[in-house]
Amino acid sequence: MEAVEFFSFPGLNADAEAPKCAISLAPSGSQKAVRDTDNRSLFFSSLGIDPSRVSSASQTHSRIVLVSRDASDLSHFPEGDGVLTRNPSLVPCVTVADCMPVYLYDPVSGFFGVLHSGWKGTGIIGEALALASVQWGSKPSDVRAILGPHIRSCCYTVDQERADWFRTSFGETVCVLDEQRARDKSPWPWRLSLAEANRLHSLERGILPEHLLDAGSCTSCNERYGSSRRQGAGNFVQMAAFAGFF
Ligand SMILES: [Zn+2]
Repeated sequence: MEAVEFFSFPGLNADAEAPKCAISLAPSGSQKAVRDTDNRSLFFSSLGIDPSRVSSASQTHSRIVLVSRDASDLSHFPEGDGVLTRNPSLVPCVTVADCMPVYLYDPVSGFFGVLHSGWKGTGIIGEALALASVQWGSKPSDVRAILGPHIRSCCYTVDQERADWFRTSFGETVCVLDEQRARDKSPWPWRLSLAEANRLHSLERGILPEHLLDAGSCTSCNERYGSSRRQGAGNFVQMAAFAGFF
């Protein structure tokens, strides 16, 4: 199995010098910041990335987005679930295992970064766009976004309360009632689409449809990815999702 998967930002000229987007796959082992330092060093070095270039936060399923200007800025791993930069020597990185990584790049203002968007953090894209606007004058209509591999509605069932919150916050279409599960009186009868919630949220915040790409893969279905639901809470592979010039 491959060790890493790459994605390309949509809506750019073929010869554009855009940051690369990538995610470590299950054979690369767990990549959680601070905890898996040695494995992260091996992994990034194997891609020709000096580990000191990697900028990560301590993730808490928040909507906090941080700006990293140089390698020392986040070296104490402050709390946050997204990292943006305009420094091409840095490699913003989050870890995910069913939660959605979101890659962002604005070729006009030059910022790029990665967000960790689980169910609690859905809406973090809007926070990142607002921060980039204040920091660098970025316009959402210039921003390219990739919704990376995550647990999709084929595998992600939720209870009534979470379904209600998502439908109220992002739109009726983000959850679909699974009628078989409802008949069986399952406590989790709804199927939640984080992709649809993030798609609607991104468009509402001004990202253009032609600048938004859904990578399409389900982490829970496919063994090439780490998945907390499939592998179990105590034993899942935390994948590194990162963007940069390397
Ligand atoms: Zn699935």
